[in-house]
Amino acid sequence: MKPVIALVGRPNVGKSTLFNRLTRSRDAIVADFAGLTRDRHYGNGKQGKHEYIVIDTGGFEPTAESGIYKEMAKQTRQAVAEADVVIFVVDARGGLSAQDHDIGNYLRRLGKPCVLAANKAEGMHDGQQLVEFFELGLGEVHAVSAAHGQGVRTLVELALAPLNLPDEPEDDAGSEPGVIRLAVAGRPNVGKSTLINTWLGEERLVAFDMPGTTRDAISVPFERHGQRFELIDTAGLRRRGKVFEAIEKFSVVKTLQAIESAHVVLLLLDATQGVTDQDAHIAGYILESGRAVVLAVNKWDAVDAYQRELVQRSIETRLPFLKFAALHFISAKKRQGIGPLWGAIAQAYKAAMCKMSTPVLTRLLLEAVQFQSPKRSGMFRPKMRYAHQGGMNPPIIVIHGNSLDHVTEAYKRFLEGRFRKEFDLAGTPLRIEMRTSA
Ligand code: GDP
Ligand code: GDP
Repeated sequence: MKPVIALVGRPNVGKSTLFNRLTRSRDAIVADFAGLTRDRHYGNGKQGKHEYIVIDTGGFEPTAESGIYKEMAKQTRQAVAEADVVIFVVDARGGLSAQDHDIGNYLRRLGKPCVLAANKAEGMHDGQQLVEFFELGLGEVHAVSAAHGQGVRTLVELALAPLNLPDEPEDDAGSEPGVIRLAVAGRPNVGKSTLINTWLGEERLVAFDMPGTTRDAISVPFERHGQRFELIDTAGLRRRGKVFEAIEKFSVVKTLQAIESAHVVLLLLDATQGVTDQDAHIAGYILESGRAVVLAVNKWDAVDAYQRELVQRSIETRLPFLKFAALHFISAKKRQGIGPLWGAIAQAYKAAMCKMSTPVLTRLLLEAVQFQSPKRSGMFRPKMRYAHQGGMNPPIIVIHGNSLDHVTEAYKRFLEGRFRKEFDLAGTPLRIEMRTSA
């Protein structure tokens, strides 16, 4: 599971600016997808080998009694509770305020690892200005400038240090070969527990023992028609005895962690609601994480023909970036349409793990170029030479050649379509990277 860093501090100290710095590495990937809504409060970041989730908590007034401030304080407390480490941001220029003291007291009592960052410290060579922040009793004060990127790397290192992260990313190391790790994701009330309980109640499912899973772990290994699955702890769900039940609080962090540790995510939508903002956010995270996806619209029994049409249209307009995913219409309650989900999940897994050889990729690339060559852009004509596979889950195809910076998005989509068809990649995102040698 990726560690979670929460950014806490009063308004205007530079939390969002720092958030953008910490999550920037992923923006480039996501920017290309039209229609993708991003929740600016949660993001993925990476430094060196270590990946992490960052939460920007907005403005925090721990003593706020009413209205929006109270709500913000509640959300911040939840974020802090879910975080592994807190970065407490103060304003090096504005100096220490009463609010900083309140937040500092709160964090000290909490006893969670906490790093104190004095932001807007660019050009401050004299440590004198930061001395007052020692009063907070949170130890060392670290001068950073989020706007200029100064001290940010060190800050992340310090934040991650107490967590003793392994040097090698976990990747697939923890999983049994041949076992598909599945997460059922979705907003509260879309029918996640109903679906899972319906599934687990089928006699075709056989539980099996898997090394490393304890009885308490909230992951359920089972087998169906010879294929092994591991249903992983899904946000908002708890296992109680033999059945799953929804817990009242929806946790974005748990959703993100479940998505990250899955091979395939089954994203459930509610036909009676259409695609909501929260659905689009979750879909955005799945895409960003590169996981294979199956989309299922639940409660199909509860809507009439007109509503069905609306739902289908809202999926097309709001989730166009998930076009690669299989789309199923189901009723978990009436047990309709849920059998075929297994095939779609297995297909998505197979696609995510697809192996593509360099000769075959290169042949396909050159055939595609011959069919339609990339457009000249000013003085530059992109020249594609060969392609190789740069990764799995999601598959990454790296194209080598010259002037490839000038290849248009439309052309990349054309290539993507060709590769998808040839390798049967339904269900998985596909990343195409251009490596240019001139
Ligand atoms: P938040 O309310 O804590 O999320 O703060 P923002 O990130 O919105 O920043 C508040 C203001 O401080 C904005 O005008 C930023 O441009 C500015 N700011 C953020 N980081 C820095 C910094 O490192 N140096 C300076 N001088 N200004 C900064
Ligand atoms: P979760 O919060 O995503 O786990 O959702 P639940 O499984 O608890 O379901 C929320 C509500 O939707 C419950 O009242 C279920 O009975 C209802 N529900 C779940 N699946 C269906 C379905 O296929 N059709 C209809 N009409 N209702 C459903």
